[in-house]
Amino acid sequence: MTQNGFRAEEIDTSRPHPARIYDYLLGGKDNYEVDREAGNQLAFAAPEVRIGVRANRAFLQRAVRYVIGSGVRQILDVGTGLPTSPNVHEIAQEVAPDVRIAYVDNDPIVNTYANALLSPSGATSIVLADLRDPRAIVDHPEVRRVIDFGEPVALLLVAILHFLTEAERPEQVVATLRDALPAGSFLVLSHATGDFADRTEAQAVYKNATATLNLRSHAQIERFFDGFELLEPGLAQVPFWRPDTQPPARSREIGFYGGVARKT
Ligand code: SAH
Repeated sequence: MTQNGFRAEEIDTSRPHPARIYDYLLGGKDNYEVDREAGNQLAFAAPEVRIGVRANRAFLQRAVRYVIGSGVRQILDVGTGLPTSPNVHEIAQEVAPDVRIAYVDNDPIVNTYANALLSPSGATSIVLADLRDPRAIVDHPEVRRVIDFGEPVALLLVAILHFLTEAERPEQVVATLRDALPAGSFLVLSHATGDFADRTEAQAVYKNATATLNLRSHAQIERFFDGFELLEPGLAQVPFWRPDTQPPARSREIGFYGGVARKT
């Protein structure tokens, strides 16, 4: 067993994992040689990707502060990623200590690291489940333990939907989750795009990974907000969504859109 509870043979180090590639690009340590190789190839194919993932993470922080500041006290974070500072509950609980959070990811490594590092408690649960089966997320007893679907929820789908192919019907998936949320809930969403550069080679890096990269256009991503009202400034490149500092250099090249919407 490793200190994180894995038997060595249970860790798949033969194929890159999206969570570990992302961790590597963010400068984290929870990744393997295959992930670093994939990350380096990605940075070669898309030179702005490292500032892109940081800008995505900064968007996540601003958006969480915004929705919690609007009064929501529950977060359903699907596609949690490996723990990275600050984590969503730390961002949220700094604004309001009584926020409850359900973290959901389909990668067992994320699940184990999260259990080890995020100290699940009365207010936090960590769930191994797949976005492609949204009903299973909404019905999961550990999700239900902390999330009351009678009260507004902030649904986080941050840098995850681009891992679903069209055949996996991402619009249906989002609609199923949306229908489980009461009015006054929020959707916080970000998504990779090829709108600013040809990213065919970046997509190719994920061919051997455990999920494929499905870039979508502004119009395609906006459709995920059906049934919600997009808040100002709409779906924007992540550095330009309500920036609280000067956007970093090369922000106009960043291939991530982000937006926040409210269910009315
Ligand atoms: N939301 C975080 C992490 C993004 S990395 C952030 O933006 O900073 C994407 C995460 O989505 C990874 O942890 C990966 O394991 C997870 N993921 C990918 N496909 C998934 C699926 N079908 N169901 C659940 N989680 C998934």
